[in-house]
Amino acid sequence: MIPCPHCGRRTPEGSYCIYCGTKLPSETQETDAGRRHAYAAYPREHVLHLSVITTLFPHLTPRQTQRARWILFGGALVILFIALGRLVPLAIVLGVLLLPLLYLAYFYFTNVYKDEPLPVLLGTFACGAVLGALASAVFYPLILDQRRLAFGRSSGYILLTGLVLPLLAQALMLVGPLALYFFRPHFDHLLDGLVFGAASGLGFAAAQSVTYSWLLLQGPFVQHGLSVSWVLPVLRIALFVPIVDASTTALICGAIWLSRDRELDARTAGWIAAPPLAALSGVLGQIIPSLGYDLIGGQVMALVWYGAAAVALLVLVRVLVHDGLLERKSPRSPNASLVCPHCGRQVPPDAAFCPHCGFALGTRTGGRTTRPPTTPGESPADATTGGGSPEDPEIGGRGRGN
Ligand SMILES: [Zn+2]
Ligand SMILES: [Zn+2]
Repeated sequence: MIPCPHCGRRTPEGSYCIYCGTKLPSETQETDAGRRHAYAAYPREHVLHLSVITTLFPHLTPRQTQRARWILFGGALVILFIALGRLVPLAIVLGVLLLPLLYLAYFYFTNVYKDEPLPVLLGTFACGAVLGALASAVFYPLILDQRRLAFGRSSGYILLTGLVLPLLAQALMLVGPLALYFFRPHFDHLLDGLVFGAASGLGFAAAQSVTYSWLLLQGPFVQHGLSVSWVLPVLRIALFVPIVDASTTALICGAIWLSRDRELDARTAGWIAAPPLAALSGVLGQIIPSLGYDLIGGQVMALVWYGAAAVALLVLVRVLVHDGLLERKSPRSPNASLVCPHCGRQVPPDAAFCPHCGFALGTRTGGRTTRPPTTPGESPADATTGGGSPEDPEIGGRGRGN
């Protein structure tokens, strides 16, 4: 046992402090509390590593992560070829379904919300999809009108599509997750907020894309024109718009959920962990690509705008998750697995971080965290994080009646 240079607690000798996740000093490296080289939710990647799966699907094991990557890559490739064949309606339908279906599979296979699958699905996908379809159905005719009346892109059109609609869309994507926040307070982990926000954003984006593409979907099955000209909008609809919507909502919800954490000193978790700043980043992430597309349009530029926004937002989400998990430091349930789900090596029973790879334990099904009550009067139900195993009486009994 050695004292941790960052938190001062006595931790077993290893690469990381089991209480605060700090990179312990070694012959070649110094102490590194921020450890940007080892993302807390997936330590074999850098925090700034660009990855949709390890950012928006944080509960997957390394093997599941690889599979999900192949499915996403293969799915995108199939959609690309279908779009190249100008089977545009098919490409759009498959495109809007790709990420939401992957996310549903993620919910199913990680089992994180198996205690309450219905409220979680209703509060995320279903709510996002219904609101997305409603908002698009109301505003789509207005967009077409504006375009027709002004013979192009008037200031009213730009105001509507570049500012009003993105703001409204972002607000609507938050409705379902916020309902879960207030009515299911036992989902109190940073990653709960992240996952709820991402799922709501994906549901919203899918419904919106279907509504906006309705004329195309009703049109001929094989569209005319250069096949390449169909690839760009289909890629944007299938990948970039959903990633932008999922990331902005995940960012805002992650910060809101993190602020619920009483163990956390929000000031130390970085500026992005402050809900107003996270919300501002999310709103800008919505407005900038829409406005950019309005002002400097064209299919190539649209792809560039949305692609750049998706990349920037994914990085912000990762920084929030990394800093938030490092600051959380919650001890785990005594019943939690003694094997690190990330590297497979043994971990001490009270570890919050794997001493070998630095993985934030308690972010995954096998090792969800349970804080023992820290103050008299704090109920054990308040001390659990979302998910958990049924054999853990404390976790298994929580939340059903809420
Ligand atoms: Zn420490
Ligand atoms: Zn490990």
